Amino acid sequence: MAHNEAVDVVLVGAGIMSATLAVLLKELDPAIKLEVVELMDSGAAESSNPWNNAGTGHAGLCELNYTPQAADGTVDIKKAVHINTQFEVSKQFWSYLTRKGTFGSCKSFISPVPHLSFVQGDDGVSFLKERFKTLSKHHAFSDMEYTEDKAKMAEWMPLMMPGRAPDEVLAATRVMNGTDVNFGALTNQLLTHLTSAPDAQVKYCKRVTGLKRNNGGWTVSIKDVNTGNSREVDAKFVFLGAGGAALPLLQASGIEESKGFGGFPISGQWLRCDNPEVVKHHQAKVYSQAAVGSPPMSVPHLDTRVVDGKKSLLFGPYAGFTTKFLKHGSFMDLPMSVRAGNIGPMLAVAKNNMDLTKYLVSEVMQSMEQRLESLRRFYPEAKAEDWRLEVAGQRVQIIKKDPKKGGVLQFGTELVAAKDGSLAALLGASPGASVTVSIMLELIEKCFPNKASGEWAAKLAEIFPAREKVLETDAALYRKINAHNNVALELVEASNETESYA
Ligand SMILES: Cc1cc2nc3c(=O)[nH]c(=O)nc-3n(C[C@H](O)[C@H](O)[C@H](O)COP(=O)(O)OP(=O)(O)OC[C@H]3O[C@@H](n4cnc5c(N)ncnc54)[C@H](O)[C@@H]3O)c2cc1C
Repeated sequence: MAHNEAVDVVLVGAGIMSATLAVLLKELDPAIKLEVVELMDSGAAESSNPWNNAGTGHAGLCELNYTPQAADGTVDIKKAVHINTQFEVSKQFWSYLTRKGTFGSCKSFISPVPHLSFVQGDDGVSFLKERFKTLSKHHAFSDMEYTEDKAKMAEWMPLMMPGRAPDEVLAATRVMNGTDVNFGALTNQLLTHLTSAPDAQVKYCKRVTGLKRNNGGWTVSIKDVNTGNSREVDAKFVFLGAGGAALPLLQASGIEESKGFGGFPISGQWLRCDNPEVVKHHQAKVYSQAAVGSPPMSVPHLDTRVVDGKKSLLFGPYAGFTTKFLKHGSFMDLPMSVRAGNIGPMLAVAKNNMDLTKYLVSEVMQSMEQRLESLRRFYPEAKAEDWRLEVAGQRVQIIKKDPKKGGVLQFGTELVAAKDGSLAALLGASPGASVTVSIMLELIEKCFPNKASGEWAAKLAEIFPAREKVLETDAALYRKINAHNNVALELVEASNETESYA
């Protein structure tokens, strides 16, 4: 076995997370030496591939599960506001890169697509009305429109209104400045940009097979998936950005902080339509409410997708269950992840989440006709011949210890870092790619605290003139940054009033 190259940073996986962190680190320290290791033969081959996720630029504009309603009818908007400002942080990074001129066009990865919420029935309407009342008072949502007028809805969602009973009770909200993001194109653009710099490499068809502590860092074992040859690389810092497969690598690291975590893989499917005669009548991402008892990631939506300059429609997701942690993974992934330290939380989750198990079984058993029935709640006149079933990416939800319940299932993401800051892993799936930049900034603050507040501080302030917390409360600054980003990313045309913060 060849021994031992040395770099500052190894990043496992060439998805949106590693690509973002690698480019960010190179901006902060151009002399840093880093290597991205990817087992597939290209970037964004798993969850970050545009057809493996929904491409929603999550900004809390339409996702009804981000604004839960309490028993007294009030709607809690904290999560929607937080995700909105996190997305604005992502946009700051993308507009910074676009401004540099060497990054390439933003049109290849981000497109303006209005975000709508759509509800049916009296309960749905009273929830949406209350949500609108509370949300539209916040500066991040002040452009939101609300309607119960079917003629207006026919303007907003022309595909979705014909074929409905005249007395059907409906309401909708719309925000014009939502987005569709091709996270695959963005990942590959970031990787190309990265490798144009010295001392930054992306190695494909290479699997990370092991991690060992060395003096102050890690020795990473890497196997060539074509030749079977192995090599070792020493790194001061390792990022496990392996998507669903981050958990087994985290376990292999043996760090104390990895103990007790387990994973629960949920697969997904979509209905996809490429018929231009249908596609041209829908220009929106329309989110509705999940069925009672179903998990948050099952919220149904009918989306305009813009991939490689072409428009399609996507409806779903329909959930499913496999024991694989990656779409291209192994059925042994789940059983092989069971450890003495996580079997308790995993069994507790299995026992306490029978509703979820039943839901997944019912989803898996659905026929194509039943799937079309769900689509027809959105698009009553949908024809079977326009739609085909596609397999989406895997989401590995986090199972973690809980002092009261033994174990809980968590639907968000969690950054797990070694106490000495030499290794970090990203577990979980949602809201995912949209908030990558905030997650990676959190990683930098956790694992490189001295540099973040010292030699990197000025550059961080240049790239990110305003972070989440400030954007949540400072309405004037939010409007200025939002307007600037929207122009820089060509989501709107520049007006004379648009101020520059560059
Ligand atoms: C159905 C679905 C819908 C979604 N919708 C949205 C959405 O609308 N908006 C949004 O913002 N987010 C969405 N997400 C979430 C988003 O796709 C993910 O959060 C994001 O893509 C994760 O990026 P990643 O880089 O962590 O993982 P990935 O893109 O999965 O990349 C991980 C990479 O690591 C590689 N790898 C794994 N193990 C190894 C190893 N041992 N050695 C080397 N390489 C390895 C894999 O091959 C892969 O390329 C969705 C996800 C799913 C599944």
